[in-house]
Formats: sequence, C-alpha cells, structure tokens
Amino acid sequence: MARVYNFAAGPSSLPLEVLERAAREMTDYNGSGMSVMEMSHRSKWFDAIIKAAEADLRKLMNIPDNYSVLFMQGGASTAFAAIPLNFMKNGKADYIVSGNFSKKAYEEALKYGDARVCASGKDNGFSEIPEIKRSDIRTDADYLHICFNNTIYGTKFNYIPDTGDIPLIADMSSCIISEPVDVTKFGVIYAGAQKNMAPAGLTVAIVRRDLLGYAREITPTMLNYQILSDNNSLYNTPPCYAIYIAGLVYKWILSLGGLEKMQEINVKKAAVLYDYLDSSKLFRPVAAKKCRSLMNVTFVTGDAELDAKFCAEATENGLVNIKGHRSVGGMRASIYNAMPTEGVEKLVEFMEKFEKENLK
Ligand SMILES: *Cc1c(COP(=O)(O)O)cnc(C)c1O
Repeated sequence: MARVYNFAAGPSSLPLEVLERAAREMTDYNGSGMSVMEMSHRSKWFDAIIKAAEADLRKLMNIPDNYSVLFMQGGASTAFAAIPLNFMKNGKADYIVSGNFSKKAYEEALKYGDARVCASGKDNGFSEIPEIKRSDIRTDADYLHICFNNTIYGTKFNYIPDTGDIPLIADMSSCIISEPVDVTKFGVIYAGAQKNMAPAGLTVAIVRRDLLGYAREITPTMLNYQILSDNNSLYNTPPCYAIYIAGLVYKWILSLGGLEKMQEINVKKAAVLYDYLDSSKLFRPVAAKKCRSLMNVTFVTGDAELDAKFCAEATENGLVNIKGHRSVGGMRASIYNAMPTEGVEKLVEFMEKFEKENLK
C-alpha cells in the first residue's frame, strides 16, 4: 500500500527513513535479541540510546552545558502545570496569550499563583502575534511564558521578547528543531514530541540549570524538574521507545546538515504553499504575513461547505488530515520536518485544480 501525504498537526508524519530503520531494528535491536520496546531502561543498550539522543539534540540545537535536557512523559499539557510548580518561585508570572495552547498554559498557572496576561492576540482573532516591550512585563515576575509557534492558528513569533533578567519560558511543541534558535535567550524550552520529533508519549524540556531547585513543596516528584535532571531522566521508566525514535530523528536531521539546512528546506517548502495562497482567488491564508508559521499553514475559502468539499476531495487524492482544528475550522496543512517538499507541491497542484473547478 502506498503512503499518503499526511498533513496532520500531531501526531504527525515521521521521516520515512526513520520508520524504515525502526522497522529493520524492530525485533532485534543492535544484537540485543529484543526490541527497544522490550528492554530495561537500565540496560546498556538503552543507556546508549538515551545518551546519544541527548548528545545529538545538544549538537543540533547547540545547547550549552549550563542547560539540562530532560526526557519525560505527560505531553506539553502536563508541562503547563509543571512550569509554575517549578519556576513560579515568588508566585508571579506573566503570559502572552497568542492562541489556544498559551491560553491553556495561562489558565493552568492560575491554579498556582498570580498569573497575568501581559498581551493577547484575541482582538485580531489570533491571526497575529502580540508585540511586547520589556515594560509590559512585571518587573517582579518569575518568568514570561510564550508559545513560540501556534499550531492551531498557524502563527509564529517573529521575534524573541526582550525580558531582561526575567527568564523566558517557551512552549515549542510545534516548531522545535525546525530551524535554529538561540537557546541562551530562553530559561526553559519545552515541547511535546509528537509534532516534530517522535511518536506521542515523550516531552522534552531544556532547562537552564540555575532555575532548578525552586520547585514548591507540593510538586509531584514526577513533575519536579530538579529530580528528573538529577536522575538523567531515569528517575522512573521514561518513554523508552519514543526516546529511541526521537534519537533517530535527530540523527536524520544531522545527516541532512543540521538545523541551518532544515530551515533552508522548511523555508522553501512553506513558500511553495504561501506563494500559491497569496495568488489564489479561491483560497485565502489566515495568519498575518509577518508572523506566518513554517510548520502549520492555515487557510480558508470563506465558505464552510466548500472547505469541507476541499478536504474530502484532498483525502481522495492521498492528501490527508488537512481539516483545520475543530475550534477554528477551515484548513490547516501541517508541514513539519518530515513532510517532503514534494508533498507540498502535490497539494498545491491539487489546490490549483480545485480552484479552477470551483471558482465561480
Ligand atoms: C500539541 C500542542 C500542545 C499540547 O500537547 P500535548 O502533548 O497533547 O499535551 C501544547 N502546545 C502546543 C504548541 C502544541 O502544538
């Protein structure tokens, strides 16, 4: 059976090379006589897997030694609670609400202290990223939280907020390892893996070490980043298989030439779709031009019935999971690292045909 072009927002496509390698190694990993799924997380094989995954992620993202890399469970949504528990040391934090997930993160933080929205994209329907200045952040805030790429609205920060000495914490679930970022500008970066790194079940956090050690007393052990860090992500059983796949994905990107090369590919790939959308008379892009996501491209026809017809016909043509998030409608093509440029070209070809047939 042929593989489809899968534009799902997450869980999403993984590189075919990675899947094929995992298939080859499925029943006998590296001479162990067993699958990675079946081995102890304390075995010498898994020890090598998790160490290599960490080393390769450090190399890819150029993560300095004063940052811990944590592999854990719970998804980004669990991190929404872990962030205030670990880092709201004086009970105050500011949040930029630029979409659904940043709103959820903010609402979760309200349970733990004085969380405040310092800027929101609500007034423009989240089609733009709010721009803030240092003076918009409370001087005694423990951190500023942002969602760097808004998976649902298809927008991305085109700047890194200047927070001075206040740690910047970013949810990068849907854009991590899609292009280089200066890790040193952030106190914490975290991401659910199922968008751009691995199957669901793994969450990665990159934490500046001086921020550790302030978790409040009630913090569940498994959400205490200091404890996870002290135990090299092996306090309990980590999501072993997802870590193994993430490691293969990191090696795949390194083999392509690292994040500079990945960015070059992603910029060209997204342009294929955005250039068409800018010229189309039927489809209209949703996100403001200056903050378009490279990973999630949102668009509409303006007619919900026509949108539904488009999604149905796209599916028949092997272009699947292109329906927008249930909260916003329209279409969304998620074109993460694993989506080949050819998939986007096929999508645009199909959109041109659909436009000809349906433009009144
Ligand atoms: C998908 C997503 C989440 C939620 O992730 P879970 O792992 O399902 O909890 C949070 N933030 C962003 C930016 C996302 O894309």
